[in-house]
Amino acid sequence: MESASVLIAGAGPTGLMLACELRLAGIDVHVVDRLDERSSESRAGGMHPRTLELLDQRGMLAPFQSQGRPMQAGHFSTIPLDFSRFDTRYPYTLVLLQARVERLLEARLVELGGRVHWSSEITGLDQDDTGVTAWVSGSRQIRADYLVGCDGGRSVVRKLAGIDFPGTPATMTSLLGDVELAEPPSEAYVQERVEQGNFAVFAFEPGWHRVIVTEYDRVLDRQAKVSLDDLRAAMVRLTGTDFGMHNPRWISHFGDAARLADRYRSGRVLLAGDAAHIHFPAGGQGMNTGMQDAVNLGWKLALVVTGRAPETLLDSYETERRPVADRVLRNTRAQTLLGRPGPHSDALRETVTALIETDAANDTLGTMISALDLKYPIGDGHPLVGRRVPDLDLKTADGTVRLYELLHRGRPVLLDFDGSLGSALEGWTDRIDHIEAIRPTDRWAIPAVGDIPASAALLIRPDGYVAWLPEAAADLHTALTIWFGPELDVPPTARRPAVLQVTCAIAL
Ligand SMILES: Cc1cc2nc3c(=O)[nH]c(=O)nc-3n(C[C@H](O)[C@H](O)[C@H](O)COP(=O)(O)OP(=O)(O)OC[C@H]3O[C@@H](n4cnc5c(N)ncnc54)[C@H](O)[C@@H]3O)c2cc1C
Repeated sequence: MESASVLIAGAGPTGLMLACELRLAGIDVHVVDRLDERSSESRAGGMHPRTLELLDQRGMLAPFQSQGRPMQAGHFSTIPLDFSRFDTRYPYTLVLLQARVERLLEARLVELGGRVHWSSEITGLDQDDTGVTAWVSGSRQIRADYLVGCDGGRSVVRKLAGIDFPGTPATMTSLLGDVELAEPPSEAYVQERVEQGNFAVFAFEPGWHRVIVTEYDRVLDRQAKVSLDDLRAAMVRLTGTDFGMHNPRWISHFGDAARLADRYRSGRVLLAGDAAHIHFPAGGQGMNTGMQDAVNLGWKLALVVTGRAPETLLDSYETERRPVADRVLRNTRAQTLLGRPGPHSDALRETVTALIETDAANDTLGTMISALDLKYPIGDGHPLVGRRVPDLDLKTADGTVRLYELLHRGRPVLLDFDGSLGSALEGWTDRIDHIEAIRPTDRWAIPAVGDIPASAALLIRPDGYVAWLPEAAADLHTALTIWFGPELDVPPTARRPAVLQVTCAIAL
């Protein structure tokens, strides 16, 4: 029987990102996918600011940037949102086809010593107290400490683990085709609402257009096959022309069913990405959410698998990420309602469009769609606890460095502007980097929060979220133990003074 510490089902963006995170932590990971080779189909077409930041935090962004094209906007039900107002190094959507994203992630996985095992479909699983046995393509068996189902919306892993997938059924169908057009529209990007629905036609590669036609109240079965003729006929029904579509390289359909796994974990089986949440692709959030699930889960699973943190650390994955997906489902339901044809939604749309022209509404929706506003329920005491850390420019004894560069190794960082916390880390030096730096500014600009006073220290998780700072309600020792497992054996006298020092800092 083959074995691995972590078995990942599915080599889409979620499974690949998770595999990279685990390999970076040195974990023995086995990725299987039922396809014979990588698909060239591209559902997603772009990555949002927070996903770009996460890639930057791992030093993997450059090839994505060189192959993608920044577009100065996001959108809410196709109403443009201005991301350029947000304090991030990447205030834009990076237009890049999903197939390219996957190829780049797979290349990175290979660099890290991993690979995808194609033609390997998970067909059965069994779990006990010590691990999971998965049946692959019927007869092969793989034993792993944990199995993560990143196997998409129809996840077999989810079903085999007995995890329910409640939600709302589809109310509409969109037909999609990547085609050549004999009579393309004069503009590169056309998107319109008409009486029966809406359509979009955009040039995505030289010679190729993506065509999407949405007809409300027509629901196709998920298994239904769609042809070029179906796509043509739908476009003619809406616009009177089919733009001379021919030579399709991909025809598909999707709906607005919105479902969320009722648990993200059943024993030693976890879910991530579309396996845990599906929704209409309004706002372009699915792949982004899946990749962010992966970065949230990866370091936690690595600490648990290596025995450094207790299994309960994994519970925080669901506590943090399930509400994020729930919010995505709700905002996509709102977006599809806004996209419906008819005088009532026209009026609602006019109102929302006017609101989005104000900075406050643009910022509320824009930081939500771009995921820059996330605040995990980690604790109180300071607005930064549970939020993404800003990418500060830091001066250290070794020179100038960006904060996100300090996260390249995927290890937690204790950023110490007073130089007073080193001894508090004594029991955790195997897993946490202590960095002393000069505090760059007195105030930090945080999307969705505003300007806040800078703190004297920051404990940053490997996913770039702040776990602790001196103003937090919990003390440093507690935060270190909760997030990174108990300290190694150090005599209590070696660490108590440091903790007292922190307590004094809080009191001051
Ligand atoms: C038209 C459209 C446009 C979209 N645009 C965007 C966008 O702009 N931005 C965005 O963020 N998102 C977008 N999305 C959503 C995005 O495509 C998905 O959210 C994303 O693909 C999810 O990634 P995943 O890795 O979780 O799942 P998938 O990409 O579905 O990957 C799952 C993998 O698991 C494999 N698999 C399945 N079953 C098994 C099994 N039993 N054993 C082994 N392997 C298995 C599959 O072969 C597949 O490779 C769009 C979706 C659509 C339909």
